[in-house]
Amino acid sequence: MIHYDEKICVKCLACVSEAEFGGVTYKRGQIFFDKTNLSEDWANIASICPVAALKYVKEDFSAHKSKISP
Ligand code: SF4
Repeated sequence: MIHYDEKICVKCLACVSEAEFGGVTYKRGQIFFDKTNLSEDWANIASICPVAALKYVKEDFSAHKSKISP
């Protein structure tokens, strides 16, 4: 899961260039992230942001599992 803080972003577009599968796009002065795009290397995209406006948080699917009592 990628988290984007628009207030920090300086619109350098490095993340747009880094996205190889169209997961990050720039339209009308705004950056859009297609979080459903699982082909992108989101950890890598987050790591290249020069101002840390992007944060990558690994999904923890185990938290969603319901506990079943014996
Ligand atoms: S790399 Fe970071 S600062 Fe540059 S456009 Fe993307 S989110 Fe904004």
